[in-house]
Amino acid sequence: MVSRLNQLPLLLPILFALSAASVPASGPAAHGASRPVRSDAVSSPRAKDFAVPVLMYHRLDVLNAKERRNRLLRDLTVSPENFAKQMKYLEDQGFTVLSARDVAAAVRDHEPLPGRSVVVTFDDGYEDAYAHALPILRKYGIPATIFLVTSSVGEPGHLSWAEVSAMSAAKVDFGSHLVHHLDLTHLSPTSADRELDESKRMIEVKLKQPVVAVAYPNGKTDGAVERRVRAAGYTAGWLKSGGPVRPGSNLYELPRMRVSGSTTMAQFRRLVGGHRPGNEKANARKQAGDQTMPDLSRGKAARRGSARGYRP
Ligand SMILES: [Zn+2]
Repeated sequence: MVSRLNQLPLLLPILFALSAASVPASGPAAHGASRPVRSDAVSSPRAKDFAVPVLMYHRLDVLNAKERRNRLLRDLTVSPENFAKQMKYLEDQGFTVLSARDVAAAVRDHEPLPGRSVVVTFDDGYEDAYAHALPILRKYGIPATIFLVTSSVGEPGHLSWAEVSAMSAAKVDFGSHLVHHLDLTHLSPTSADRELDESKRMIEVKLKQPVVAVAYPNGKTDGAVERRVRAAGYTAGWLKSGGPVRPGSNLYELPRMRVSGSTTMAQFRRLVGGHRPGNEKANARKQAGDQTMPDLSRGKAARRGSARGYRP
């Protein structure tokens, strides 16, 4: 982790360029004795009218004083300590933590889900998911889903394929965040297809299991993109904002809820616990303002993307 912090100077120009329009992001971590990851828990009552918060994290790390002065980096980065507290809360309160794949399948197949369910996802594939998140996920038996930028795998600060494989063996699921973290709504059909196809195929070859979901970089999609996503063989597309997933959610515009570095435990409790019938106005207010936080992808892919005019 220390070595990763040394790479941050490379990031700072990007961060400062982006800092005008920022919001928060996420991530947890800590230590813990290993326990087999439970795939999901189905013992609690299942409901047809579910509302499942799908939490979105990015980085899990401890920032130094200089880094903490950067709002974007601060928002993107959840401390391992806070992540551990958040996961412990889910455990203590008896939440059922599902995979993103399970929730999308329930929407598609019109199946019920346990009453107090939640999903944990990470975007961009930062290395701290292995170093900081995995021990905590294992400690509490929490399945998670990571959306990988395949060209960034093995880049400084990002997961290696060996780490991805190790996490996959520990029941962490993986989806696509494209090859180069590009905004699909700005790409030609040929380029969009290449991003969707190559990232999916790469992860499938490495992990020898089907990849069914894509998380849209920048959260951007439209009808034309969704037709290409579907044609590429994906069965789910995930946004970067919105409320909980409900039975009628669009499978190619599935909402998520950001956990940022500044999210307090009180806010986290409301995030995972405030979605009940009749609470729609409060939920909508809570999500307002939790919209576009640019992702931070480091390395060649991010710089290439920035050169094309999209915000990392
Ligand atoms: Zn991203």
